[in-house]
Amino acid sequence: MNLVQLITRRRDGFVQTKEELTAIAQLAAKDDESSHYQLSAWLMAAYFKPLTREETANLTIAMCETGDRLDLSGLPKPWLDKHSTGGVGDKTTIAILPILAACGLTMVKMSGKGLGRTGGTIDKLASIPGFRLDLSEEEMLAQAKRIGIVLNGQTSNLAPADKTLYKLRDTSGSVESIPLIVSSILSKKLAGGCDKLVLDVKCGSGSFCPTLEVAQALATELVEVSKLIGIHAEASITDMDQPLGSAVGNALEVREAIEVLLGKGPARFRELVLELAAEAVHFCGLADSRDQAREKVRDILESGSALEKANEWFFAQSGLTVEQVLEKLPVAPVRESYVATQNGWIARVDAGLVGEAVIDLGGGRRNKSDELDYSVGLEILVTVGDKVQVGQELVRIHNRTAADAEKCRETLRQAIQISESEIEPRTLFL
Ligand code: URA
Repeated sequence: MNLVQLITRRRDGFVQTKEELTAIAQLAAKDDESSHYQLSAWLMAAYFKPLTREETANLTIAMCETGDRLDLSGLPKPWLDKHSTGGVGDKTTIAILPILAACGLTMVKMSGKGLGRTGGTIDKLASIPGFRLDLSEEEMLAQAKRIGIVLNGQTSNLAPADKTLYKLRDTSGSVESIPLIVSSILSKKLAGGCDKLVLDVKCGSGSFCPTLEVAQALATELVEVSKLIGIHAEASITDMDQPLGSAVGNALEVREAIEVLLGKGPARFRELVLELAAEAVHFCGLADSRDQAREKVRDILESGSALEKANEWFFAQSGLTVEQVLEKLPVAPVRESYVATQNGWIARVDAGLVGEAVIDLGGGRRNKSDELDYSVGLEILVTVGDKVQVGQELVRIHNRTAADAEKCRETLRQAIQISESEIEPRTLFL
């Protein structure tokens, strides 16, 4: 197929055939440097002349077919995958997987490393000493069959076309195209073998959807394209203008996810976990109504079955029980406070800036190759709408050096705003 024609037809707004989009995916999968400039040109053309829904579905399937596909057919149904578009302090997966597995779902999930402000679930779990995230396909399937949960790093041959296209989008300024985001996410979900998917589309400064309009457009395309490729999907849009829960930083977030399983944890994070879990249970047909699903999820938590599942899961991948994980999680050498300098109500806790502060502490990556310090992070002790007083601790900084903490305080001064008049709490489900 003539590559120049592929680019000019995109540029001129023609609807491209399945064969054309397959040619793009196959070329990307080869990751041959000599084709990168033409693929980048096609991506920029696709940014300005967005793919239609059908084109997005065809590109998604073609990208998936460039690699291996996991065969879940030997596992008990229903199978469910869960995906968050990523946010600051988003450790939902670690808390929700044991709840859903205890409800009877089989969850086989592969995740990527975090880059930029939003952390990755893989990085959070990697803070548990010895936690294996490189399971073979056989190990993944055997574990999922035995305990109903597996969470692994992405195998190298999972939608290889996406790896090249994502890299080229990143360097050609075409990351923000909704059809390209959708095909990137869904090609990997399709390759993961699942037929049901719950999506948590994050909206706000700590996510890549700055406005509700963008989040709604992304959620709609994710659900509709899923339908066209044979995945039954449902999406929620949730607030990511302030960090989710209190903990931001890898080991701190694992601790907080476990707290929810112990019946504790910050109210907003707990609410998100319980509500998304109820949505998933209802969606998979394990409850007749959302209310019945909520009751089931609450029972599973209160009975300790979810905690027992977490024990099985952590033990399977790290040889540690939940209790041992809590003992062995790395702890930062120093703890300092960031306090309020005026009385009033919390008007803003900017999630994006909080994410930046954690990267500066060493808990996140600016570049793919950056090493992480799993122990550092922040505990955000207030949420929008809280009444605060001068001298009250707003954030606990878990840091390594005094200089790191000082830099962090500077960022927090921009991130946290206090109003003299009363402020309403923010809605969690948008
Ligand atoms: N996550 C992905 O996997 N791909 C994107 O393009 C954006 C988020």
